[in-house]
Amino acid sequence: MSKYIDSKCKLCRRERTKLFLKGERCYTDKCALERKKNTPGEVAKKIRKKLSGYAVQLREKQKVKRMYGIVEKQFKKYYEIASRKKEVTGEVLLQLLERRLDNVVYKLKFAPSRATARQLVNHGHVMVNNKNVNIPSYLVKENDVVSIKDKSKTLDVITNTLTNSKAQIPDWLSLDLPKMSGKVVQLPQRYHIDADINEQLIIELYSK
Ligand code: SF4
Repeated sequence: MSKYIDSKCKLCRRERTKLFLKGERCYTDKCALERKKNTPGEVAKKIRKKLSGYAVQLREKQKVKRMYGIVEKQFKKYYEIASRKKEVTGEVLLQLLERRLDNVVYKLKFAPSRATARQLVNHGHVMVNNKNVNIPSYLVKENDVVSIKDKSKTLDVITNTLTNSKAQIPDWLSLDLPKMSGKVVQLPQRYHIDADINEQLIIELYSK
């Protein structure tokens, strides 16, 4: 993803929802969204425009892209894959995003955020089915086992997150804490994804 150098919290305030970009801070009352309810720039302008239908759809897409840290080209590619499936397009789109290896590493609490999870994968700390995989966009399958390499098991970022994270591991994954590995029990379904997402808006946007 192109590097975003401004405060990550501004992105959440812009989208008016938690995107969980700053690890454990997101689960505390230090979260900027808990403290500042206004969109950046909004106070200064004192303007609250009613968004058009197109703008609402666009914002929803931007929100989900930012949540998963994905650039437009790759996000559109996921949509195109999803739209060719016979299942509900929006649900397949979300499933593809959830199945990304960086997301799974984050969900298993090996990393405090998806961005950190991506770094762990990029830097070769993660294996899938006992084989090195350093591609964050790798899509996990049912029964895949995602684990931390032996030499990386003492990394502070991993041990601290496993010890301190207040996030819940979703039911489609199971964690074996002593082994620092997790299994994909089943592919993620819509009901497993509790983020505030209206995927239909994104599908309507791309369908135009
Ligand atoms: Fe910042 Fe995390 Fe709160 Fe977003 S959810 S505003 S990244 S602390």
